[in-house]
Amino acid sequence: MTQTYDALVIGAGVMGASLAFHFAERGLKVAVLERNVVAGGATAHSSGLVRMHYDLAAESRLTFASYQNYFSVWKERVGGNASTSLSASCGFQRTGFLQIAKREHEDRLRGNVENQKRMGINTSVISADEVKRLFPDLMTDDFDYAAYEPDSGYADATLTTNSFFESAKRMGAELIQNCEATSVRQSGGKIIGVGTSRGEFSSPIVVNAAGRWAKRIAALADVEVPLVTWTHDVAFLHRPPSLGKIPAVIDDAITCYFRPEGAALILAAGEDQSLRGETPDAESQTPAPNFLDTLIEQMMRRIPKIGESGLHSVHVGRDGITPDQRAIYSATDLGGFYLACGLSGTGFKTSPAAGASLVELILDGESKTADIAPFRLSRFAEGKLLEGEYGYGQLWK
Ligand SMILES: Cc1cc2nc3c(=O)[nH]c(=O)nc-3n(C[C@H](O)[C@H](O)[C@H](O)COP(=O)(O)OP(=O)(O)OC[C@H]3O[C@@H](n4cnc5c(N)ncnc54)[C@H](O)[C@@H]3O)c2cc1C
Repeated sequence: MTQTYDALVIGAGVMGASLAFHFAERGLKVAVLERNVVAGGATAHSSGLVRMHYDLAAESRLTFASYQNYFSVWKERVGGNASTSLSASCGFQRTGFLQIAKREHEDRLRGNVENQKRMGINTSVISADEVKRLFPDLMTDDFDYAAYEPDSGYADATLTTNSFFESAKRMGAELIQNCEATSVRQSGGKIIGVGTSRGEFSSPIVVNAAGRWAKRIAALADVEVPLVTWTHDVAFLHRPPSLGKIPAVIDDAITCYFRPEGAALILAAGEDQSLRGETPDAESQTPAPNFLDTLIEQMMRRIPKIGESGLHSVHVGRDGITPDQRAIYSATDLGGFYLACGLSGTGFKTSPAAGASLVELILDGESKTADIAPFRLSRFAEGKLLEGEYGYGQLWK
């Protein structure tokens, strides 16, 4: 028997969860179809950084709206009457955030920070000496300036996803797991439903939020999406006992990023060693052969006390990445079929406002929470790939 909904979402990662929450909030009968389990894709391995510094204003706007309206007020905005305090939480930790710039990027850093200040973001350019005063265990001899966001930090992507779903379900949304989308039904240039391993679902609205599998789902609807799999190794190090306070850091001077992971660990990963082009079904948890040696060398340059530490564990995560390394939040040529994919290794922190904005675009014809027009699919065919106003080059080298 065909089940009928106002809207269907394919994929129950953080993006599908945010969409479900925002559709349900608008009173739509929505179901999320997930072939495996909730938060089992990229979301499970997200490093969870929540920062507002980007070199593209459209991304800063999305992250600022996500921080201001969601991460910083999660319980009130999303958690509500959750049955447990855990499901009312996104696990946001305000550690502060540093964007360390290469020396030759000082003007760009200042340009981006000025743009972000105009948006209302609490950020400033600080000197290497000021960084040292704030965080004495960081070495600061190989850069001159950094952007500092005292409000930023990191959150827990799995908690965030589950909290969105818990709230969405209280408003009537359904999460249907072990349900693989296998076909897309269309009529007269419009989508009318999705065929799955658990039967037929009909709806005039379908959003493809299938992460690194989104290209496959789009192909079922004859929509071409330029997306490949991006593979990213992440290490967890024991926190050296004598290490003082450290913030979340994106360190372009040594091409890696790191942050505290609770009280006992440090999460760290490189910007320059991520594979492209594995099959989306790849599952290996073996990192690249030189991953750890390179990362430890990079981390020792910034935090010599890492030498007192040891490795806790490593995991390998995968996301979908587009040619300009920016997301796709977009309508398509097939009426009623939308994309929320290609999140390119940075889509966790934007997912609350991106979900809100896409639901506005779908239901109201334009997005108000943040302008997502720059993230339209047609930019690739138009040859208008997104570039930062004061670009640092692509994040993933
Ligand atoms: C290692 C790593 C570190 C990251 N660090 C950060 C960070 O610090 N900050 C940040 O902002 N972002 C970060 N990201 C990016 C961010 O985590 C992802 O962009 C985000 O989690 C993607 O969520 P998603 O819902 O789009 O996709 P996913 O979480 O991958 O979910 C897609 C879902 O679709 C389902 N699916 C696929 N095919 C089908 C089908 N046929 N039928 C039904 N369901 C299907 C899958 O099973 C999966 O559950 C990181 C990503 C990785 C991998």
